[in-house]
Amino acid sequence: MDLYEYQGKELFKRHGIPVSDGRLATSPEEARAAAEELGGPVVVKAQVLTGGRGKAGGVKLAETPEDAEARAREILGLDIRGHVVRRLWIEKASDIAREYYLSVTFDRGEKKPLFMFTTEGGVDIEEVAATKPEALVRLHVDPLEGFQPWQARRLVYGGGVEDAGEQKQIAAIVGKLYEAFVETDAMLCEINPLIVTPEGEVRALDSKFTVDDNALYRHEDVAEMRDPESYPPEERAAREKGVTYVKLDGEVGILGNGAGLVMSTLDVIALAGGQPANFCDLGGGGDAEGVVDALEVITADPQVKSIFFNIFGGITRCDEVARGILAALDRMTIEHPIVVRLDGTNAEEGRRLLQEAAPPNLHVEPTMLDAARRAVELAR
Ligand code: GDP
Ligand code: MN
Repeated sequence: MDLYEYQGKELFKRHGIPVSDGRLATSPEEARAAAEELGGPVVVKAQVLTGGRGKAGGVKLAETPEDAEARAREILGLDIRGHVVRRLWIEKASDIAREYYLSVTFDRGEKKPLFMFTTEGGVDIEEVAATKPEALVRLHVDPLEGFQPWQARRLVYGGGVEDAGEQKQIAAIVGKLYEAFVETDAMLCEINPLIVTPEGEVRALDSKFTVDDNALYRHEDVAEMRDPESYPPEERAAREKGVTYVKLDGEVGILGNGAGLVMSTLDVIALAGGQPANFCDLGGGGDAEGVVDALEVITADPQVKSIFFNIFGGITRCDEVARGILAALDRMTIEHPIVVRLDGTNAEEGRRLLQEAAPPNLHVEPTMLDAARRAVELAR
């Protein structure tokens, strides 16, 4: 789960990383009030779950509260690479002498957290890595040994920070960032830019914070930060119903039981000349409840033109799944053509049940490839 800048900064603050004072605003009037409260010049910042807001016109300086209201009016509703701005972070403006970059993330290859630091901050880190790789200091932390203070010093000296005051502050921030990373089960904590003010004070001016979804159960405070509105409706529905759902980009909605079968179904759709719009994994289940939930999620995706049910009856018997499908279609109306392939335990019984009772938009095909072809055809 990705956090908004202001949420990441809240976590930074809790872990003792210095950030600027700020307020959340969702309207121009609130932005004005926030600027009045903060006093002096402020920065009006779009809160969206994507980077590069500055370049897209989502970060603007405002000298007065009236100015803040006007900038807020411009930024609210702005579309920043597919993300519409509905929240603003109004922050006390900082004077910037230098912009650095600091992050900690997972290096899956090394199976260790990886720190990256450079004094060439403020720009895309990919750009620094490509054009000035010698300026980027990389350092792994052994998760069993834990973070050692010398590692912070190596990052800071390696990056060429010369001022003793800066060295000390950055080293302290490195340690706290590691604590924040570990304690929240984060996947990424990034500060870009980490600024030095003309007075020599070091502060996090931006935050990018990603927390492992699978660990949210033990971080209620972080889980509460989730903004349901930032997800498409079908992803919201899937989360609420506990359905395993993945959005893709084609036109055939896929429902299968078991991860392996679902993966092969994606391949077969491609082989038949189509593209999957999404997929749901029913897992071991196939009862009406599970089928209704999955169908509701799949059909909420406007890209879906046809639905492919691919079921292999192992422990779950095909006749049970067929009854589940029929019961589900009794409870809800589906306009889309549905193609069903049933194979495995009690497949014949399952197919017979469907053929006897299914609505006209449901088609039963004997093999996976036939069914895929039919589903692709019906999606055209
Ligand atoms: P991003 O574009 O999404 O990464 O948003 P940032 O929060 O990093 O802001 C982009 C840029 O705006 C920063 O690199 C700064 O140069 C500038 N900026 C943001 N806040 C301030 C501020 O308080 N004072 C000044 N002078 N510049 C700021
Ligand atoms: Mn940034």
